[in-house]
Amino acid sequence: MSDRPDFQPSTLVIHSNRSYEKQSNSILFPIHQTATYIHESVGVTKGYGYSRGANPTVNALEQAIAAIEGTEYALCFRSGMSAITTLCLALLKAGDHVILSDVIYGGTARLFHQVLENFAVEYTYADTSSVEATEQAIRPNTRLIFIETPANPTLKLSDVRAIADLAHSHENILLAVDNTFLTPLLQNCLSLGADISMLSTTKYIDGHNATIGGSLATNNAEHTERLRFVRKIIGSIASPFDAWLTLQGVKTLPARLAMHCSHAGQIAKWLEDHPRVARVYYPGLDSFPQKALAEKQQKAFGGMLSFELKASTEDSLHFIEALKLCTCAESLGSVETLITNPATASHCDIPLETRQRLGISDHLIRLSVGLEAPQDLIADFEQAFARIFPTT
Ligand SMILES: *Cc1c(COP(=O)(O)O)cnc(C)c1O
Repeated sequence: MSDRPDFQPSTLVIHSNRSYEKQSNSILFPIHQTATYIHESVGVTKGYGYSRGANPTVNALEQAIAAIEGTEYALCFRSGMSAITTLCLALLKAGDHVILSDVIYGGTARLFHQVLENFAVEYTYADTSSVEATEQAIRPNTRLIFIETPANPTLKLSDVRAIADLAHSHENILLAVDNTFLTPLLQNCLSLGADISMLSTTKYIDGHNATIGGSLATNNAEHTERLRFVRKIIGSIASPFDAWLTLQGVKTLPARLAMHCSHAGQIAKWLEDHPRVARVYYPGLDSFPQKALAEKQQKAFGGMLSFELKASTEDSLHFIEALKLCTCAESLGSVETLITNPATASHCDIPLETRQRLGISDHLIRLSVGLEAPQDLIADFEQAFARIFPTT
């Protein structure tokens, strides 16, 4: 956005969408809850024709997302999955090949496996934490590399810069990154060389479990045009009300992320030192094998961690059930601390053998560390440990 002043992201998320509504001078951008727009004379509009194509409140959110992405363009969608679906429908055709990170969001895997496969879009998984393995997966018809870093739920990292260089050393291969776990404030994928940054705004961007939404950001005008066109055709644009709620959430994103990272760092250390904990996966820990890569491409280590107890799967699940403050629920990135068992939730339809190869054990526990006081969360873990393992 060429008229965007040169402010820091924490300023831009608050002021990029200030209201210029003259009737009342409301400080918040209004919800334009409308299906259509009046023509001033036949065929003459103010740029808005029908809300399946564009809507001012959605546009305000897009400006805020573009501000934090540092991109020329951002588009908002009804869900993270509809952002990915629109991306695939807009930029792929039958016969094209896509490389996916082997550890990836379950919905993304299902989209390729159970939907796009019917439309003759080819895909293969690669261990994108290895540039060599990714390179070996490239075929003459590869058009897109779609990676997730840190990956859900093992937090395995892929080197965005190296994979972007690999993609761009071939004609016609784009790199898209699902950056939901960190957001562009903690990992700016476009500046690391990616072509498209994808977010499930449901998570940290909204931050309050109030909406389902997604976004795509890019500096490519042609891709934006095509994505906007397909979004209008299939009707995957965000709703005005969801966009408005997300606009309120994004204003506190910088403040929330700082707390999420600080709390997650404290909980990760505490868990790692606990005698009943076998292993903690958190990129900020010295024990994390890819800590150096995290330091290179991330501005902080994020609010997500996973861990395994020295216990059976059954006892691990009982441990989750014994927690009182941490809430067992899908999703992540909200003010509430959320805990899941990926093997029975998000990754339940991945065959056991594959899950084991990818390091997603049946007793792995994923934690999205919220904004509650860390000592209260630790006290909750302590009471759950005492209840499930009375002898330690
Ligand atoms: C939640 C999530 C998605 C899908 O987003 P929805 O908003 O639920 O459609 C995609 N990728 C990751 C990493 C996610 O966590």
